[in-house]
Amino acid sequence: MGAGKAAAGQRAGFVAIIGRPNVGKSTLLNRILGEKVAIVSPRPQTTRTRILGVYNGPGVQLAFFDTPGLHRAKGALNRRMVEVALQTLREVDAVLLLVEAGAGPGGQVEVGEATRWAVAEVARSKKPAVLGVNKMDQVPRPMLLPVIAAYKDLHDWAAIVPFSALTGENVEDLLATLARLVPEADAPLFPPDLLTDQAERTLAAEYVREQVMRLTRQEIPYSVAVEVEEFDESSRGEGRGIVHVGAVIYVERESQKGIVIGKRGAMLKQVGTQARQGLERLLGCKVFLRLTVKVEERWSERAEALRKLGL
Ligand code: GDP
Ligand code: MG
Repeated sequence: MGAGKAAAGQRAGFVAIIGRPNVGKSTLLNRILGEKVAIVSPRPQTTRTRILGVYNGPGVQLAFFDTPGLHRAKGALNRRMVEVALQTLREVDAVLLLVEAGAGPGGQVEVGEATRWAVAEVARSKKPAVLGVNKMDQVPRPMLLPVIAAYKDLHDWAAIVPFSALTGENVEDLLATLARLVPEADAPLFPPDLLTDQAERTLAAEYVREQVMRLTRQEIPYSVAVEVEEFDESSRGEGRGIVHVGAVIYVERESQKGIVIGKRGAMLKQVGTQARQGLERLLGCKVFLRLTVKVEERWSERAEALRKLGL
């Protein structure tokens, strides 16, 4: 290899994963990395910040940004989230816009207004873009054709790839397609053992929030923020030991506090058990998780509260 020249076939670059809420952006990132670095729930607006996940494949390093869903945003937190997604679009080498497979009862495919807007933003970015049609496991194969047809002429896509983040079907193809869109590189962007920019402490908070989002209803999932106050690894050993985590679940009203705690603490206990199990898998050791619930009035509307919570 000559000095200053890329090794044959070596590529590295940044890819933004964008799309409407709930299309499976975070599920895809986790699938690509084989680790849960981005929390997932059936509710929109689960992802609140952008998350870096680094994939190392044969001859390629793809640094993905998972982003909050693009939607018509109301409220300070939501507006901030959409800004983050759009900003990311401007900073990457290639874009992966996700949509969901699926059609109406007559087989007709509606491209929604929000998706059209996302496509327009992709066009404005002038970045090479792949359209990923996720959730192919949910539709019979012939139904994919009208979906692809509906999106084909909306933009000059580098490729359209149907896949399933849930089953992993076609995810290899998707990665190979994206690899062709990033620049040749002399060196990877990140050390090969760096998986994500999410600190374990941050992931601990996210794992707790994920369970609250999954287990509560109505406005509660959107009224919750989690802050880890204690992350004590002093008794953590190689593959054993224990990590002590103390986390505060913030809600916006007294009534929400009651719901998150539940009857005789039942809800909080369930949140704690599930989050702890996930964290034990992630950290590879025992976790002692202590949860408290506090009211922080209208935190999602207050810039200073958002800053404090790292949003
Ligand atoms: P995001 O908001 O775009 O990040 O979407 P998430 O990754 O949080 O996923 C939203 C929901 O879609 C969750 O309930 C996922 O389990 C589900 N989901 C994601 N990918 C797939 C898929 O390939 N097939 C199916 N059936 N469900 C999926
Ligand atoms: Mg997400």
